[in-house]
Amino acid sequence: MKIKSAIFATSAPDLKSCPLSTRPEFAFIGRSNVGKSSLINMLTGRNGLAKVSDTPGKTRLINFFTINDAWSIVDLPGYGYAKVGNMDRLNFNDAVGDFLERREGVLAVFVLIDSRLPPQRIDQEFITWLESCSAPYVLVFTKTDKQSAGRSQENIELFKQGMSEWRSELPPIFPCSAKTKLGQAEILGFIEQTLAKNRGA
Ligand code: GDP
Repeated sequence: MKIKSAIFATSAPDLKSCPLSTRPEFAFIGRSNVGKSSLINMLTGRNGLAKVSDTPGKTRLINFFTINDAWSIVDLPGYGYAKVGNMDRLNFNDAVGDFLERREGVLAVFVLIDSRLPPQRIDQEFITWLESCSAPYVLVFTKTDKQSAGRSQENIELFKQGMSEWRSELPPIFPCSAKTKLGQAEILGFIEQTLAKNRGA
C-alpha cells in the first residue's frame, strides 16, 4: 500500500474524548521505549509524525493519525509495571483499558515486543489480558537490526512456544526494524488486506 498522506488528527486523554470512529483503526501498543514511534514513522514514511524519544513513559495520551484519508493509526500509551506491595503488577492507564475494551472499529491491535529480549512476563501478561478484548491482535518484534537475525529468530521462537501452550492458533507475527525497514511491506500489506476484508464484510 502506498502512503499518500499521514496527518496527525488529535490527542485524547480518555475514551470519551476520542473522536467519532468514522474510519477503521489500527492501534499500536507496547512497553515504553519498545520502538512504537519509530515504527509508526517507518510505516508511514514520515519521520516526525510520532515523537521518537529516549525518555520512557512520556506519552500518556491516545494519538490519532489519519492515513490516506481512509483509515487511522492509533498510538496508545505504553504499559509497564507498578509496584503493589512488593509485587510487580501489569499496569496501563484507564484510557488504554477502556479503548481496547470498548472502542468500536478497531480492526487490529499491533502489540510491539523487543526482539532483543527473551520472552518477558510483562508482554505475556498484557497479551493474556488483551485476549479478553474483542479486537484481533498481531505481534510485531521490533529492533531486529540490533542483533543477528538468528538471535531475533530465537527470541521470536521462544515467544511462540510460550504462547502455543495456551493458544491453539498463533496470531500473525512480523519481525521489524525501523532502521532497515524490515517488515514495512508485510505490515502495510496486512493492513491493506484487513481493510479490504472489512469493506467486504
Ligand atoms: P517508543 O517509546 O516505543 O515510542 O520508542 P521510540 O520509537 O521512541 O524508540 C526508542 C529508542 O529506540 C529510540 O532511541 C529509537 O531511535 C530506538 N529505536 C526504535 N526502533 C528502532 C529500530 O528498529 N532499530 C534501532 N536500531 N533503534 C530503534
